Amino acid sequence: MTEYTDRQGHTHALPDAAAEAQVRADDRAHVFHSWSAQGLIDPLPVAAGEGSTFWDYEGNAYLDFSSQLVNLNLGHQHPDLVASIQQQAGRLATIQPAIASDVRGELARLIAEVAPDGFEKVFFTNGGAEANEYAVRMARQVTGRRKVLSMYRSYHGSTSTAISLTGDPRRWANDPSDIGAVRFFGPYLYRSPFHSETLEQESERALAHLEQTILLEGPSTIAAIIIETVVGTNGVLVPPPGYLQGVRELCDRFGILYIADEVMVGFGRLGEWFGIDAFGARPDLITFAKGVNSGYVPLGGVVISDRVAEFFDRTAFPGGLTYSGHPLACAAGVATFEVFRRDGILERVRDLGERIVEPTLRGWVESHPSVGEVRGRGLFWAVELVRDKETREPLVPFNAAGADAAPMGAFAAAAKKAGVWPFVHFNRTHIAPPLVISEDDLVRGLSVIDEALTVADAYTT
Ligand code: PLP
Repeated sequence: MTEYTDRQGHTHALPDAAAEAQVRADDRAHVFHSWSAQGLIDPLPVAAGEGSTFWDYEGNAYLDFSSQLVNLNLGHQHPDLVASIQQQAGRLATIQPAIASDVRGELARLIAEVAPDGFEKVFFTNGGAEANEYAVRMARQVTGRRKVLSMYRSYHGSTSTAISLTGDPRRWANDPSDIGAVRFFGPYLYRSPFHSETLEQESERALAHLEQTILLEGPSTIAAIIIETVVGTNGVLVPPPGYLQGVRELCDRFGILYIADEVMVGFGRLGEWFGIDAFGARPDLITFAKGVNSGYVPLGGVVISDRVAEFFDRTAFPGGLTYSGHPLACAAGVATFEVFRRDGILERVRDLGERIVEPTLRGWVESHPSVGEVRGRGLFWAVELVRDKETREPLVPFNAAGADAAPMGAFAAAAKKAGVWPFVHFNRTHIAPPLVISEDDLVRGLSVIDEALTVADAYTT
């Protein structure tokens, strides 16, 4: 097939083989890619996207179960987002951040409306890592302290402070960069660092460990604790009951600020505006990006509690970005709010998650020898693959490269061949389709993953 059909039913021709060859040649010769050994990769050239699907140049369709990098919440080429960006570009394409802009103000007001009470101000950035950089900078200014605590299993972005706070191996080559970064173990019952057997135990023990870490590091030296509300790329780790409330109590006791990193889960992934709403958590700063406008134009930011904002009423905030609150990005954000409200996106995420994804995935634990655990919420789930359910040995050893990447590589190849683009990280595949995916596509995609898991089953012992 060398054409595709958009959601209005129009058929479009895809570029020809010569165009594909040119894309590959330019990419290989000139594009320096993220997180990769440049000589070992062969990125797929993508020709078009529509809703939850994208097409390569040969006309192969991929149902996107990764929402790109878990950002494409409203899918490709959403007409409302595209129109909003086009209108804004025709009116005022850019304006510097020290000038008041209608669309920037409107988006900040919309965000404040859905944030918890006592959060009125928004500082805009170009993405998630910068949002975390600035949240940390605010916390350091307000508390006059330097250290920041983060989890070992975490990802907070790739800029200097954000990569230092990242717990996973992506930080190794950059260590030590920010000298104030201190890490602790978060709750993860399936591989409990505290040998817990129940969620309650895991919550209590993880909090006791965090308290010890604070006491041994020196409470008066700690500016903030940063936590992904649901840990994202490190495994969709849902916090056990009481954990985030306990973090709040520790922060209050020791005068530490709590930063909720909502870059991946904010704006609908869990069926809530913010993930904290699902867990009754009360942070001081909330960082966001991705879902705020599905990544149509780079945008992120920090939602600031009044308590923190007041500090900067008479004290200058030492930071800023040329493109802070870029009008095109904000226009896409305003349109995102309209679509969410008009189309009941949050309700549909909760419904699809509870009615279709959760029961299907729970069934896989029974039917597949390779599926050790499934966990998640809304349209954000992890399927954790093991060689052996008894020992829980990961199907891919931690940070595996080369030959041992085979089981997950073979699983991913099988899914792609059958038309689903999976999100694979270490020994997990995450289920994170666009929030607008049709019910039929969701069911079809899950059955492709189900079938591809039989490839992984062959590697179990
Ligand atoms: N924080 C979390 C939880 C993320 O998942 C990510 C990106 O995946 C980031 C921060 C970094 O965001 P960005 O890539 O927009 O800088």
